[in-house]
Amino acid sequence: MFQHLQQYAGDPIFGLNDAFHRNTHPQKINLTIGLYYDENGRIPVLPSVAAVQKELADDPSPRVYLPMEGLASYRSAVQRVVFGADSRVVAEGKVATIQTLGGTGALKVGADLLHDAYPLAGVWISDPAWDNHHAIFGGAGITTHSYPYYDPDTKGLAFDAMMNCLNELPARSIVLLHPCCHNPTGVDPTPEQWQQIIAVMLERGLIPFLDLAYQGMGEGMEEDAYAVRAMADAGLSFLVANSFSKNLSVYGERCGGLSVVCASADEAELVLGQLKAVVRRIYSSAPWHGGHVVAGVLNDPQRHAQWLTEVEAMRRRMAQVRKAVHEMLAAKLPGYDADYFLQQKGMFTYSGLSREQLVALRERHGVYIIDSGRIAVPGLNNANLEHFTDALVDVLE
Ligand code: PMP
Repeated sequence: MFQHLQQYAGDPIFGLNDAFHRNTHPQKINLTIGLYYDENGRIPVLPSVAAVQKELADDPSPRVYLPMEGLASYRSAVQRVVFGADSRVVAEGKVATIQTLGGTGALKVGADLLHDAYPLAGVWISDPAWDNHHAIFGGAGITTHSYPYYDPDTKGLAFDAMMNCLNELPARSIVLLHPCCHNPTGVDPTPEQWQQIIAVMLERGLIPFLDLAYQGMGEGMEEDAYAVRAMADAGLSFLVANSFSKNLSVYGERCGGLSVVCASADEAELVLGQLKAVVRRIYSSAPWHGGHVVAGVLNDPQRHAQWLTEVEAMRRRMAQVRKAVHEMLAAKLPGYDADYFLQQKGMFTYSGLSREQLVALRERHGVYIIDSGRIAVPGLNNANLEHFTDALVDVLE
C-alpha cells in the first residue's frame, strides 16, 4: 500500500552525527549539531530548571490536559520574556499568545493560521535558511521563496540585495526573519538595519514572522529581542515564534510560544480563537510537564533572576570561545581573516570552508562540520580549541 512512497532522506545533520560517533580519532570534535554544550562538553541541566523539576516530581496532582491555548501562567511569562515586562502592546491586550510544541510547533501553528487567513500569500525565507522553514511552510500549503541574506565575500549581511528583494514583494507576503543568532550564518541585522526592514514592512503591507529560537545567546536577553520590540513600537501586526529549547536547555520538553501582535484587543481575541482551532485540529494541547517547568522558572522572581545569570553564562562562554579561536588563528595563520568568528553571533558561525576542506577536516582530524560550513560553536571548549585551530590551519594553508 505504501510502496510508491519516496524514501525519506533523513536529516543530513543527524547522518553526520552518526558518522562522528563511529569515528575513532582520539581528539575528534563534533561541531554539527545545534545544541548548547558546556565547557565539559555536556548538555547542561540548569539549576533553576532542576529545582522546578524536583518539585514537580513530588507533586501528586494529575497530569490533566492543558487548555488548547496552553497554561495561562506560561503564556503570560512568554509575553514578558519576548515583549519585555513593560510592553505597551501586551498591556493593551493586543497580543494573542499560546504555548506550543517548541519553536517548531509555533512555526507550524503560525503557518496554518496564515494559510487560513491569506490562502494566496507566499512566504519569503532567508538564503541560506534553516531547512525546516521551507518544509514547515511548504507543508502548510504555502509557496516558499528565498530572499538574499548572506554575502560570502564579506561573511556578513547582503543587506542591499535583501532590501531590494523585500521592496518588490506583493502586499500581504509573509517574511520569515530571525531576530537574533541567525541559523545557519550567525549574521544579524544591526538595530539601524532593523529600522529599515520595519519601514519596508509597513510601506508594502508585508507580514513579518519572527523566529526567535536563541533569545539570550547573542547579545543578551533584552538586546536579542530588539526586532520584536521595535516592530511592536512601530505599530506593525506580526507573529513571533519563540523557543525555550536552548535558553532553558529543555529541548525534549517541547517548550515554545506563538504570539500574534494585532491591531486591537478585539482582533487579538479573534486570533486567539483561531489559534485554538488550529491547535485542536493538529495536536489538541501542549505538554503539561514542560509548561509547568518553564512557568515555574519564569514566574518565580528569584528563579527567574537565577535563570538570567545561567543564560548569560552560556552566552559569555560562546563569546569567549569565539574570541579564543580568533586569537589563536591570528597567531597561527596571520594571513587568514578570522574576523567573522567575532562578528557573527550566537550558536553558529558560517565558515565559508569548501567541501574539500570540510572532508579533510573530518578525515584527517576528526573535526565534524556540516556541508554548508556551519560551525556549531558550543562544541568548542578550552580542551579542544588547540586541536580545532591546528586542524583549520592544516586545511586552510
Ligand atoms: N527555528 C530555528 C532557527 C532553529 O534553529 C530551531 C532549532 N533548531 C527552531 C526554530 C526549533 O526550535 P525547537 O527545537 O524549540 O522546536
